[in-house]
Amino acid sequence: MRKAPVNKIISFSNVDGPGNRTSIFFQGCPFNCRFCHNPETINLCENCGLCVDKCPARALSRDGDGRVRWDPSLCVQCDSCIRVCPHDASPRVRYMTVEEVLHEIRRAAPYIGGITVSGGECTLQNDFLLELFPLVRQMGKTCLLDSNGSFDFEKDPRILAVSDGVMLDVKAVSPAWHEHLIGAKRDTVLKNLDYLLSVGKLQEVRTVILPGRDEENEVTVRYVAGRIGSACGYKIIRYRPFGVREKYQKELGEFTVEEEYAERYAALARSLGASQAYVV
Ligand code: SF4
Ligand code: SF4
Repeated sequence: MRKAPVNKIISFSNVDGPGNRTSIFFQGCPFNCRFCHNPETINLCENCGLCVDKCPARALSRDGDGRVRWDPSLCVQCDSCIRVCPHDASPRVRYMTVEEVLHEIRRAAPYIGGITVSGGECTLQNDFLLELFPLVRQMGKTCLLDSNGSFDFEKDPRILAVSDGVMLDVKAVSPAWHEHLIGAKRDTVLKNLDYLLSVGKLQEVRTVILPGRDEENEVTVRYVAGRIGSACGYKIIRYRPFGVREKYQKELGEFTVEEEYAERYAALARSLGASQAYVV
């Protein structure tokens, strides 16, 4: 039976799309964003074992094959393991079947309008989602993808056919800045922006506003606002250093972007027609 690596499931979330939703965070991401606040979701565990002795609750151990095992019943969620991991991974990942994930969704079903799959990058698990989403929709629930835009939706639109929309990150538009900030090219992201708009599957766009990066922030916000108009929401996210790797905090900033600074960009977006731009 097909399995996917799940970092965590939040049964009730009101920040991952409209209404109350169950959010499923998959492990693994092809991008390496400098401002990522969950860097432990980027890679799969390499079983190096470095975290095992750092666990104060003895929730981590090695099995006969040298693989690191996590015992959730002992874990006290102290995060020591992810702090010491040199590979941007986590030992607390569960490989779950579609039925196991569905079981979690069913428990929350009376109280949610749908589910949002996130990460990491959820589209790395498209084969899994192609099985999961139709079953969730049979329950009368919506299915949203929270994506970094690395997957070319036009090339393989099967996942869109069983989804209700995509919440797309557009982190930067300038090619050089995108490669520096994200460690990958921007082209597929921008192609997805236009494609998802054209097929009516763009639920929302998100851009993180970085401190003191006036030019880069403005180029991105102008581009996105000019494209989306009033067709979907535009979430302007204040950079927050919480969870960001120390070396990147030093580069990008050790303080949260002030609301007034981010609000400038939301106002700019609205002035360009993105009437649903707002700051979080
Ligand atoms: S978060 Fe859990 S597994 Fe990780 S070190 Fe703490 S107790 Fe151990
Ligand atoms: S989570 Fe990180 S430190 Fe722990 S075994 Fe896996 S790769 Fe090593």
